[in-house]
Amino acid sequence: MRYISTRGQAPALNFEDVLLAGLASDGGLYVPENLPRFTQEEIASWAGLPYHELAFRVMRPFVAGSIADADFKKILEETYGAFAHAAVAPLRQLGSNEWVLELFHGPTLAFKDFALQLLGRLLDHVLAKRNERVVIVGATSGDTGSAAIEGCRRCDNVDIFILHPHQRVSEVQRRQMTTIFGENIHNIAIEGNFDDCQEMVKASFADQSFLKGTRLVAVNSINWARIMAQIVYYFHAALQLGGPARSVAFSVPTGNFGDIFAGYLARNMGLPISQLIVATNRNDILHRFMSGNQYVKETLHATLSPSMDIMVSSNFERLLFDLHGRNGAAIAELMANFKQGGGFSVEQDRWTEARKLFDSLAVSDEQTCTTIAEVFASTGEVLDPHTAIGVHAARECRRSLDTPMVVLGTAHPVKFPEAVEKAGVGKALELPAHLTDLFEREERCTVLANDLKVVQGFVSQHGNRGKPL
Ligand SMILES: *Cc1c(COP(=O)(O)O)cnc(C)c1O
Repeated sequence: MRYISTRGQAPALNFEDVLLAGLASDGGLYVPENLPRFTQEEIASWAGLPYHELAFRVMRPFVAGSIADADFKKILEETYGAFAHAAVAPLRQLGSNEWVLELFHGPTLAFKDFALQLLGRLLDHVLAKRNERVVIVGATSGDTGSAAIEGCRRCDNVDIFILHPHQRVSEVQRRQMTTIFGENIHNIAIEGNFDDCQEMVKASFADQSFLKGTRLVAVNSINWARIMAQIVYYFHAALQLGGPARSVAFSVPTGNFGDIFAGYLARNMGLPISQLIVATNRNDILHRFMSGNQYVKETLHATLSPSMDIMVSSNFERLLFDLHGRNGAAIAELMANFKQGGGFSVEQDRWTEARKLFDSLAVSDEQTCTTIAEVFASTGEVLDPHTAIGVHAARECRRSLDTPMVVLGTAHPVKFPEAVEKAGVGKALELPAHLTDLFEREERCTVLANDLKVVQGFVSQHGNRGKPL
């Protein structure tokens, strides 16, 4: 499988190089040159497979030529064997033909584990083979950081630096990152917001001289391997609910457009998906595009669903690429306009094309809490605020009551106690067994100024197992 850039100028790469790349050299994002397509018979034959075996069948074409089947199978079995639920991604019914796909049974309690626990193992495998070391610099609004640290803590050839916005992630999220120690693990709290952190990561990819030749790897969802791993659970959910004979709809709490883009790809690979709902919080750039063809940057608001508090959705470029007939030059121009003027619209027929599949809604903090309270009253289930946004949007935007509606349950509610308390849910939430002493553990974290040079200096001083590069 070969991968090409959404801006059309960078060289095509194989899976191994895409795994180790960040942004493409032309500023674009890598996507498969040709998407694999499965027949209905083939998909139907996967019903009842354990999660890791389904994962092997769905992802195999993407890694073909780079990772041997036997190695890949073993990596997948280890990755998903570490999840706390035997079904890995169980479905829980909330209402009539309405389900939550629980994606929070991994070690760090959010869906990011599906991709990052795999990414860590893939990196380890590939780097050992190449006898190479890399540095990871990643930005997190909360959940990516802990999942990436957890996924890479045992990687001998990786030093990982995670930037989070100082005092803007929940205490559980922070502690999940800062209580994991290792000479290759570095938590940095930036005196700024998530977009400041993300900008620093982008700038570091653009000019890597501070790394003195060591390769920089991306762990945010610009890394293709993350999107790839997320495609699997769309197949998994649909197969439980009568797919592929029957189509299924999904409502996806969305920030960077990574998770929902994986659903879009699952559909293009042959899985019958009739509707994808983009569910955002007040930071609604994607909703404004889907509802009114306006992709315009606005100020950032802090909400009760902090993992979706972002102004610009990096993966959206991957959808735009398809909407523009995979014309890299057109995307380069759009993104240049965006950088200059902070916004764009696309031609009407391209927007109409997107709207055939996607609906959207922006959900307020108040509606989020109401939904948590309502679902608790009717089912006894406590939703996390991100998942609640997905449920609310599903109920508002659903096109057909006959089609199963699956809301992606993106995080465990224990990660976001503030929203759960505000919703007035009087049920004490307990940390899962492996985290019961989280609040007693020692923390390690460095607070740094919102200044690129300072951060890059820190990385080059500590990028080789705590020693200078
Ligand atoms: C990351 C995250 C999201 C948003 O996912 P994207 O792929 O960025 O759209 C939603 N909910 C939770 C809990 C998350 O951690």
